[in-house]
Amino acid sequence: MKKPAGKKRPKRTKQNELVKPDKRPEFRDVFIESRAFKTLITSAIEVYNRETNGVILGSNTVKAIKDERKKVITIKEVYPFQTEERKPSEVVHGNVAAFKRVLRTIDSFDAEIIGGYHSHPFPYFKVRLSKGDFASIKEDIEAMMKVGHKRVANEWLEILLSIKRKEYAKPSGREWYICDYIKKLRCYVRTQKKVGWDILVSAYWIYPKKQDPQKAKPLKWEMGAKEAAVFVPWNLD
Ligand SMILES: [Zn+2]
Repeated sequence: MKKPAGKKRPKRTKQNELVKPDKRPEFRDVFIESRAFKTLITSAIEVYNRETNGVILGSNTVKAIKDERKKVITIKEVYPFQTEERKPSEVVHGNVAAFKRVLRTIDSFDAEIIGGYHSHPFPYFKVRLSKGDFASIKEDIEAMMKVGHKRVANEWLEILLSIKRKEYAKPSGREWYICDYIKKLRCYVRTQKKVGWDILVSAYWIYPKKQDPQKAKPLKWEMGAKEAAVFVPWNLD
């Protein structure tokens, strides 16, 4: 006998019903769970020097961060897309039908998309989102809202991985470590004796800036960006 794997849920989750276009974004800081963090880093190294991208799943939580209980958003899972068209300075949905299948599948599992991620392989000029990034995030939000992921219309979390391959003069074994900046994190991974990766991890909230009540569709609004601090389990103590 077939057993349903998940609970049958109401047509739309309560949380989504509560999302109103005029709700103010919270801009919470970001906590990335260890497995999700390793997936982000590995997927950026895998396709170097092309861009990786995918969606991130998670929820609002409260976390003890540096002796303080803080409201954060926790990234629990990362799904890297497999069917994209990847270039050194751009990544696009190579197969729109496949992209939509991913969105619908995640919704069937009753998981919530909170945003996306992508990488900027070296030479990146500045650590920031480009105009093209804003345009494609807008398109993704639109596609996601159509299949029921409504939360992202008010606030979309984008994780940016600025990645550079490094060659070292002095050989060393495989290792990795993290450096903590005010908001960003830097992750160094040594994958061969003289080869490693330097990945700067930053997080941005993308949100509708002009909240004009005459315009019903939030996607018509200009999008703003606000950087949030990133935490991982290894830099909390
Ligand atoms: Zn980009």
